[in-house]
Amino acid sequence: MSQIDDLPPLRDVIETHGLRAKKSLGQNFLLDLNLTARIARVGGSLTGAQVLEVGPGPGGLTRGLLAEGAAKVLAIEKDARCLPALAEIAAAYPGQLTVMNADALTVDTGAHLAAPWRVVANLPYNVGTELLVRWLTPASWPPPWESLTLMFQKEVAERITAAPGSKAYGRLAVLAQWRCDTRIALTLPPEAFSPPPKVHSAVVHLTALPAPRFDAEADVLERVVAKGFNQRRKMLRAALKGVVPDLEDRLLSAGIAPTERAEQVSLEQWCALARAVAS
Ligand code: SAM
Repeated sequence: MSQIDDLPPLRDVIETHGLRAKKSLGQNFLLDLNLTARIARVGGSLTGAQVLEVGPGPGGLTRGLLAEGAAKVLAIEKDARCLPALAEIAAAYPGQLTVMNADALTVDTGAHLAAPWRVVANLPYNVGTELLVRWLTPASWPPPWESLTLMFQKEVAERITAAPGSKAYGRLAVLAQWRCDTRIALTLPPEAFSPPPKVHSAVVHLTALPAPRFDAEADVLERVVAKGFNQRRKMLRAALKGVVPDLEDRLLSAGIAPTERAEQVSLEQWCALARAVAS
């Protein structure tokens, strides 16, 4: 196995700094540095890139990002126990790694990185979806980031990339695919992590499109889609009841039969419905 840097193996780092994984912080660490370098490369060359990493933990993925040529990495870690291990990486890459001991939900990334930045993260499962939805719903588009390479539970990754008509298709698929290209780049078994989680994981790669695929007001689309999928077994004329007067006419004008269910509606139809609701 080739070495990606001259720092100690991650098992030694964890041992030295007493980083026993905490379930409450979603800590499942990646220990194979060749794998973390591979994840870092999912979005193409990182040479010169500005990268946000959420939850670096002992720094396996951080080391992958820096070894792959990232010019600057902002790593936000809630667990102060990880800071000494991350300081060793910062010392090995002078001026390239900034570590913040904070909750990623409270940090304004734009204040620390020059756009367009990328996000590469093995996300803590408890805040992963919330962070993704925030990145997908900024006030204006295109966003300050150009791509997101994110580790999720495989089931969540499938919800992001799902096609209409499938069980996994829902709000996350519509929000993500409206403004991004999405793909599952790799899937990983539980044994790839320490400690192993109960489920398989997958790395999703999202690339921001210069403009949304179809016209729609973001807040209207989000509201209609959330309500439609909230009662996904119901016909849309029932699931969307009360959203707008003349609901059935507006569904029909968007090319959607009022008897259809949310999971049968394409992205283009959701956007047409959002326009009909807004008009
Ligand atoms: N990146 C490391 C790796 O791949 O081995 C660790 C990944 S582990 C799944 C998630 C990390 O996110 C943990 O280090 C955890 O302490 C951190 N974390 C959890 N909640 C956080 C939050 N709200 N903000 C920042 N970091 C958080």
